[in-house]
Amino acid sequence: MQTQHFIGTRGGQDTALNFHDVVLNPNAAFGGLYTAKKLPKFDEDAIKELSQLNYEELAHEIFHRLNLNVSKDLLKDALKLYQNFDSPANPAPLCSVHPYLNLQKLYCGPTRAFKDMALQPFGTLFSGFLNESKREVDYLILVATSGDTGPATLQSFANKPHTKVVCIYPKGGTSDVQRLQMTTVNAENVKVFGIDGDFDDAQTLLKDLLKDPKFNAVLRTKNIALSAANSVNFGRIAFQIVYHAYSSLQIFKINRRKIHIIVPSGNFGNALGAFYAKLIGFPIERIWIATNTNNVLSEFINTGIYDISEKSLHKTYSPAMDILKSSNIERVLFTLFDAQRTRELMESLEQTKKYSLTKEELAWIKMYFSATSCDDNYCLNIIKTYAKKGYLIDPHTACGFKAYEEIKTKFPNTPCVLCSTAEWTKFAPTIAKALDLGDLSDKEALEQISKTHKVAIPKQIAELFHNPEIHNEVFDKEELGQKILEWL
Ligand SMILES: *Cc1c(COP(=O)(O)O)cnc(C)c1O
Repeated sequence: MQTQHFIGTRGGQDTALNFHDVVLNPNAAFGGLYTAKKLPKFDEDAIKELSQLNYEELAHEIFHRLNLNVSKDLLKDALKLYQNFDSPANPAPLCSVHPYLNLQKLYCGPTRAFKDMALQPFGTLFSGFLNESKREVDYLILVATSGDTGPATLQSFANKPHTKVVCIYPKGGTSDVQRLQMTTVNAENVKVFGIDGDFDDAQTLLKDLLKDPKFNAVLRTKNIALSAANSVNFGRIAFQIVYHAYSSLQIFKINRRKIHIIVPSGNFGNALGAFYAKLIGFPIERIWIATNTNNVLSEFINTGIYDISEKSLHKTYSPAMDILKSSNIERVLFTLFDAQRTRELMESLEQTKKYSLTKEELAWIKMYFSATSCDDNYCLNIIKTYAKKGYLIDPHTACGFKAYEEIKTKFPNTPCVLCSTAEWTKFAPTIAKALDLGDLSDKEALEQISKTHKVAIPKQIAELFHNPEIHNEVFDKEELGQKILEWL
């Protein structure tokens, strides 16, 4: 049996690691991110055969060809989590909006955002790997969230043996639905803390804690190892290849055409899955990166310059994309260039807060990617326009329509798949604003829109408002380490 080896994007690593290692311990020792050394390549005949498979079979085939060495039974158990989705046989269904535009609903899981696509099976994969390694260690997973990752991680790990999850969120920085999705989770092994501060504070706090010698020493005496389930964990990326592959095959099967995929992007995990799917040979023509006015990524893809030296973060209606440093872009640099060049560019980013590609390098990027950015006004208009046509779309998905407009002009009559990354119910007050219903709370907005547009509120959202908020502690930043240790 062949084994996939994982190497660091900035080089300097001499031991070969496997998938198991990088899922449990995702932080690369030499900086950078772990990345698969060799991707498989499916030829045209293989693609035709793969297009006959159902979602689960395709996932097995992709994991197998990536040589990830996940046992059939474990992968099967992990994929069983899709049985909690709206349509278990196809967790990421396509919905046609125009003859050439399909929305891929990536939000049909328990927390109604695309994070579930990877995080639902990920929890089972992670604890399965722990079982196999038979080491008497418990894992503590620390999560800082701005709203969607936290709920999905808690859902994934609740009641999983030998794992504990601590989730930190900025009090007042999430929607009511997002907060309730965390504070109502009732499981012994999870703990949720609100902090006074914003998402950046939460993230910095977490990074400091990871480096804190005293905190780490106490964990060692308790035989607890630290891990992370954030969007750079390759275990998550692996599951994110599958749905892009699946959508491209569904369309290829009908008309033998390659698709354009539009991805509303923040940390670039979703888009990276599409990039790998294309490299492996799935019928994908081009990947469109959609951003909001925090347009660092789209600027980079259009100009080759990644520059955050004079940028500050804007709060927008699509908060999951309010981000300046997109971690996963580093894996694209590594794949298209090499470790030495990646190190050079990343060091430049750390020291001067910017880096520039050469003309040739930019041309490489543009063979795979295009990008657009979209402001809040455009976003609200799109939501309103499509609501009139009978489609309720969330603000992140709405940002993707700008790319669709461009594709329509530049590449007429080509099939597109727009990744719909959240359900409208997760951002109901923004939808209410777009529909001129005024400034409403989450609950009011959900009820009004449900009534006026005759759509049901899914039970996963409706029940949040009836469950007790178990985790209601809010702390000063200084107290957090101590509070976590007390809980452990
Ligand atoms: C996380 C998230 C995104 C951004 O995805 P990345 O993989 O970080 O690029 C977009 N939309 C929604 C709703 C999200 O939750």
